[in-house]
Amino acid sequence: MPVNQPSRPYALATRAVRTGQYQDLSDLHSEGLALTASYVFADAEDAAEQFAGRRPGHVYVRFGNPTTAAFEQRIAAMEGADGAVAVGSGMAAYTAVALGLLSAGDHVVLGDGMFGTTPRFFRAYMEKFGVRVSVADVRDLDQWRDAVRDETAMFVLETPTNPMMHVADVRALAALAAERDVVLLVDNTLCTPVLQNPLALGADLVVHSAAKYIDGQGRCGGGVVAGRADLLKPVSEVLRTAGPSPSAFNSWVFLKSLETLPIRMREHSRNATLLAEWLEGHPAVEEVHYTGLASHPQRALADSQQSGHGGLLAFTVRGGRREAWNVVDALSLVSVTTNIGDTKSMITHPATTTHGRMAPEEQARAGIGPNLLRLSVGLEDVEDLKADLDRALRAAGGRSR
Ligand SMILES: *Cc1c(COP(=O)(O)O)cnc(C)c1O
Repeated sequence: MPVNQPSRPYALATRAVRTGQYQDLSDLHSEGLALTASYVFADAEDAAEQFAGRRPGHVYVRFGNPTTAAFEQRIAAMEGADGAVAVGSGMAAYTAVALGLLSAGDHVVLGDGMFGTTPRFFRAYMEKFGVRVSVADVRDLDQWRDAVRDETAMFVLETPTNPMMHVADVRALAALAAERDVVLLVDNTLCTPVLQNPLALGADLVVHSAAKYIDGQGRCGGGVVAGRADLLKPVSEVLRTAGPSPSAFNSWVFLKSLETLPIRMREHSRNATLLAEWLEGHPAVEEVHYTGLASHPQRALADSQQSGHGGLLAFTVRGGRREAWNVVDALSLVSVTTNIGDTKSMITHPATTTHGRMAPEEQARAGIGPNLLRLSVGLEDVEDLKADLDRALRAAGGRSR
């Protein structure tokens, strides 16, 4: 195509704006970060074709970015998905799925013990638009079978749940969902594609909060939906039309972080297993919840669908809230913060923070007792973590070993 030449040399202001652009980033070994709000078309016809979606290409930042596309391709390849749609947060992933795939009159069954904001989203916003919601225990297939109605459009669940580590039988739920023509969505934030591939177990969609293990160093917010192409198309249309879009910078961080996700998840799992086993024998500890323990009631099921047990565990200390808080307050290495999935180990007292808005009866039903602590096990040396926890547990009133 002809290159249009200017009729005279450009003035300074024009040179300030127009020289040095359009660098070719294709020879960078480490994938580049493309920061741009829009894209240049070859000509007017190309613009028309790309806007109409008849020709591939990036049109505008709200729904197209090469760095984000690379992140989407990488996570799709790791999940074994047809594709993926990156969004601005884990909750934006739910928003995009719900707006794209649900209609008034539809019914959704949520797994018990989900990340608290997820049921809140469905109840506070989707119910307002006529979507009905019920809840079923992820461990009890009969509850899901009983919950299904003609209008049921989607099953939404996490496995294992956080912090109680209840495991859903994804294959069995996928069979039930297929039989009743229901979309099965699994939030795979905790296991990541390294330890669990829900799509291979029969799920239709996977959701991630990328702020957790995918970033893995607690820097950026983001989310992603992966799965079947026919289900992703309406989800990506939501991105274009409603705009819960990701930041290209965050996509770049996630893209690079995925490269070390397999070794990080192996090490998180190793550290957490060693700590869980050690905590189980500690005199100041009552009970430990971790799918990697031989004592976990659903260990065999977890092993049949996970290739590791991840970095999250929960335990109860002897005593009540005072003793649990004493442990938190006596730690020096482990951070007191409510996030999960960081290289840094983090502890939370769920009953007064993440689950603090639940009624006491609800907390009791969910197993969130006043003496429960949740530990997101990081990548520090496990002996240093043990020493820190041991000192804190002794301060709580338990005996040292
Ligand atoms: C954090 C989290 C979310 C929400 O993701 P944000 O990125 O915080 O919006 C959803 N599901 C699970 C399992 C999470 O841990």
